Amino acid sequence: MQTILTGVRVNEEPTIGNFLGAYTPMINLSHEHAHDSQINFFVPDLHSFTTPIDHSQLYANTIKGIKYYIAAGLDTDNPNVHIYRQSRVPAHAELCWILDCFTPFGEASRMPQFKEKGAEHPDAVTVGLFNYPILMAADILLYDANYIPLGEDQFQHLELARNIAIRMNNKFGQELFTIPADERAQVKFMHLEKGLRIRSLVDPAKKMSKSSENERSKISLNDNPQHAAKKIMSATTDSEGVIRFDMINQPGISNLLTIEALLNNRDIQDVIADWAGQTSYGDLKHKVADSVQHFLEDFQAKVAAISDAEVEAIMQRGEAYANEVANAKLHQVQKAVGLRK
Ligand code: ATP
Ligand code: MG
Repeated sequence: MQTILTGVRVNEEPTIGNFLGAYTPMINLSHEHAHDSQINFFVPDLHSFTTPIDHSQLYANTIKGIKYYIAAGLDTDNPNVHIYRQSRVPAHAELCWILDCFTPFGEASRMPQFKEKGAEHPDAVTVGLFNYPILMAADILLYDANYIPLGEDQFQHLELARNIAIRMNNKFGQELFTIPADERAQVKFMHLEKGLRIRSLVDPAKKMSKSSENERSKISLNDNPQHAAKKIMSATTDSEGVIRFDMINQPGISNLLTIEALLNNRDIQDVIADWAGQTSYGDLKHKVADSVQHFLEDFQAKVAAISDAEVEAIMQRGEAYANEVANAKLHQVQKAVGLRK
């Protein structure tokens, strides 16, 4: 069976950008491949403090991150679906160390997160931030994962994982690691031409980001629904005066049309056709504000209905499975590098 594996960091409250661009496609894949794949959803909690966070919230946010997977529609009754915390599977950190020793320093230095996040937090550039992509390689290679649904910002890290695996297989035998599919095959697997990109409500030239400090730029999944509707009503648009889908000249309006389509599970072309030629931006905003409010009310009710105890039980199952698979792979690697007979 092939393995699909994915994780979303819980450093900040996720937004509808994360929900529509990452959660929904991943959940759809988990349904499509419910019977032909192992489906691993994990919370990369060891990755969450490569940049500074509020540690008093980390444990609660981890549990909440798992509730979000479930509320978004992940089928936890499917025996092929596994949910676990990275920190509860010690093989991740152990394999990371071994992979570190087979990763040229220069190659690791070229990774985008280190450069970008390092520039954002010049006082807090840690060895952890530098090492993060190699831990990510361990996350993937321990499970012989073939497909890792990712946003476009993460493909360079996937390429690093592939390079490490190819290098180690050449040295220690081709059966050591499964090489994950390359970027082109990953995107095709997700049925996408390219990754989705929900825009900031304040500056639609930019993407919506959960770490943005401007609350008005983003709709967070725990926003008060009425408050979120108001953010849509005050979203930046343009002065063209006619509703058209044109990401270059009317990115704000196009973003609203995209959100409206995705939240209602409708084809974007149908939504564009509904609004073609209309001139009231207010009407469109009202409609999208309604959709956002309903989505949040419904999603938050689903999250609230999931108990911590349910999450604990699901994690226990998932972590037992993950430890079994990961330890077997770690054992194989330890043997290959000469740590075991
Ligand atoms: P941060 O600001 O902390 O980088 P982020 O909002 O960019 O947060 P990530 O944790 O970097 O979120 O990414 C999680 C997943 O969500 C990735 O698969 C990423 O590609 C996707 N994603 C992030 N922002 C958007 C967006 N605006 N539209 C669609 N997908 C997005
Ligand atoms: Mg990001």
